Formats: sequence, C-alpha cells, structure tokens
Amino acid sequence: MGWKCSECGNTKSFVEINRVETLVSQKEATTKIEKIVNKFTKNPRLDVWCDNCKSKSVEWTDVSNQDENYIYEQESYVSENHNIGTIVFELTNKCDIDCVYCPKEGSEELDFNIIKRIIDENKTLQNPIRHFELGWDMGNPLSHSRIKEIMELFNQFDCNVNILTNGKNFVNNIKKLNLTDNFNFTFFLDHPDEKENDKLMGECTFSNTLDAFEYLNQRGISFNVYMRLNKYNYNKVEGMNQLVKNCGGGSLVPTEIYPLGKTKDDMLMDDEMKREAIEEITKLNLNKSIHFSPALLNENCTYQRKLRLFIDAKGRLSFCHFLSSLHNSSIGSIEGRSLLEIIQKNNQVRIGFLKNKNRLFAKWKKPRQTASPCSYCLHSFGLNKKW
Ligand code: SF4
Repeated sequence: MGWKCSECGNTKSFVEINRVETLVSQKEATTKIEKIVNKFTKNPRLDVWCDNCKSKSVEWTDVSNQDENYIYEQESYVSENHNIGTIVFELTNKCDIDCVYCPKEGSEELDFNIIKRIIDENKTLQNPIRHFELGWDMGNPLSHSRIKEIMELFNQFDCNVNILTNGKNFVNNIKKLNLTDNFNFTFFLDHPDEKENDKLMGECTFSNTLDAFEYLNQRGISFNVYMRLNKYNYNKVEGMNQLVKNCGGGSLVPTEIYPLGKTKDDMLMDDEMKREAIEEITKLNLNKSIHFSPALLNENCTYQRKLRLFIDAKGRLSFCHFLSSLHNSSIGSIEGRSLLEIIQKNNQVRIGFLKNKNRLFAKWKKPRQTASPCSYCLHSFGLNKKW
C-alpha cells in the first residue's frame, strides 16, 4: 500500500496532516515507505497532498497480494512522536452476565505477558500513554484470571485506568484487588427500573449494581454509567440520568446497540426512537458519543483521528472495540512488534481507511437518517444488515 499522485505521477514524497504532520517518503507507490517524519500541528485537519506538485489528487494504492509485513521491516520510520492518548485492552470475552443483545461470544483472555510487555515498553517512551480502558463492549475484565496482577502493572506508574464492568458480582470481585487512585469504573446499566433492567441484563444485576455504587461511594472512588440504548429503553435517558445522580455517579454515557451477535433486529431503535433519544441527550447536556453524531464526510472518531489503540482479547491490534466481534476488523497480531511499530501500523491502517472512506462514503446509501459514523464502519467491515 502506498500513495500515488494522480496529477504528476509522484510516488515518492507526500504530506499527511492529521494532528501530526507527517512527511512520507517512499520509493514508489505500493513499495516500502522509507521514512516518516512527524511533527505536531496546532491546526489539525485530515489531508494528504503530493509533495511535488501540491495536488490533493492522491490515491492510496492498495495491492491486495502484497504482504503488509513491510510496514514493520524498517525501524527508521517508527517515530516517538505519536499522538496516541489511550490504549483499550479487551481483557476477555468472558462475562458473568448474559445481556439479551450481547454482540459477541467467546472465552478468550488477553495474554498477561502481552499486557506486561506493552506497559513496560510504554513506560520507556519519551511520550508514554497515560490513559487506559480495560474491557469495553463485551466481557467483564474483572473475570480475567490474572486481573490482580494486571491492576498491579497500572499501579506502578502515573496513569488513569477506566474499567468497564457490570455490577452483578462486583463487590465480591473487587474485594481481593488493590484499588488505588489510578482506577475508576464505568458500569453497564440499561434501565432505571429494576424489573425492566433485569429483563435486559439478567436477574439481580440492578440491585447488585446499586450495591456496587454504594461500595465505591464509601471509598471515594468515582464511577460512570454506560447505557446501551435500544427499543426498550430509548426514552429512559432522563430517568437513568437521575438514578446515576442519586447514586453518586459521575456521568451517564448513552450509546447504541448494534445488529451483531444475539441482537434481534426488532431490538434496535428506529429513526424516530433514535431522534427522541438524541433530543433527550442534548437537552440533558450529556456527553454525545459518536453513535449520536450524523454520518457525515470527515466525521471521525478518536480511532480514526489516530488517538487510540485497541488490542483485542486474542492479542491482536484491531480496528475498534465496537467492531471486535467482526472477524475482519482485526489488523493483525502484535506478537514480536514493539509498541511504536504497533502505533505506526495503526496509523497506516487509519490513513488507508480514511483515504478510501472519502471515495466510498460518497457512494454509500445511508441505511437510515440517523445512521452514525459507526454504521458506516460496520458496513465497511462486512455487515450486510442495514443499520
Ligand atoms: S465503529 Fe468506526 S466510527 Fe465507530 S468508534 Fe469504531 S472506528 Fe470509530
């Protein structure tokens, strides 16, 4: 994969801007990139142009049979000037609850040695990454068999770790762990009414989660709540926000369920429901996630702005935690790759995706008016259902 200018035919030197200004040198399109020099820029905008004739008609030429290992072959273009602010580790797919719309199954556990290696390398960087997320869409990171040791790794340096979990067995799980100021939590909870919540998340989840809130309040540990909107709770955002406040929580973070895994099509919000939910989220001034942004050209999330890395439970660099149940969203194994190489690979894949996105997005027929940028990603990674 490499750049080629359609105006002057240059294949050697290009400038990419996306918060980090990067001068890319390569021998020819589709061959090894020789050098990448990064410098930070205050006025970011995603763009690529030819360094020879300054034309923006630049193509990302993808050769399907080319082994992408070339990206790793030369240390010289691996730069310390990365822009990654967050690493998301999907610690496991195992879960102690069984939500009706869980997108994924599995029982993989991210190898402890991979996590340790990445953390150790990170501490040696000029610009270490200081924010981490453990968990995300699926699985309960607290069920990782070595969670105690994993948490100790994050206790050894100045960082902030958000653990995304559920409250079903939280109080029991957490008792054995060393909770320092480095940790905070985000809980999945889907409905302000106990009975309705437990229909979605399983018996006793609601009451045990409220006990978990109380446990954390008593110890002065902060937490947020993550609510997955669907047909059964899209109009309960205000009620849920009130519940979170009453329980001493920080913010409510609404998100949207996907047509993946066990999700039945009739659980999804239709346009009208989603509009109502967006109105409520706006009125309450809640953090509006990418799910509630319109799918527009250049509407790019933190992954696509090259601000995040996602390592899945199988030990692979992957495109995004929301897509991790789609087999082809994996970018590749990270075994034997240094953290800077992984970051470089991550950036390369985003650049390629975004270059193609502009072209393909123009042809994409939005499946619904309220489709989000994530809908476009799911479509790009092979989801046939309209969402
Ligand atoms: S699905 Fe795409 S747009 Fe949504 S968060 Fe992931 S990478 Fe970003």
